[in-house]
Amino acid sequence: MSVNEKAPPQPEKKFGCPACGAKMTFGLARCDSCGEEAPIYNRRAFWPLFYASLAAVVLALVAWLVIG
Ligand SMILES: [Zn+2]
Repeated sequence: MSVNEKAPPQPEKKFGCPACGAKMTFGLARCDSCGEEAPIYNRRAFWPLFYASLAAVVLALVAWLVIG
């Protein structure tokens, strides 16, 4: 483990489970309450990809508007 890596004292819980409604620990593939598979947006890897594709769409729109 890296020295710079910060260990959060509390697990991040951002989203509710669509199956049972309990708050899921962010980054886990499954709900820690009912074991149901967590939605893709509960994964950490989803968000950089999401913002990267969002940025790509915005850049494409800007380029389309500027260049024509
Ligand atoms: Zn659940």
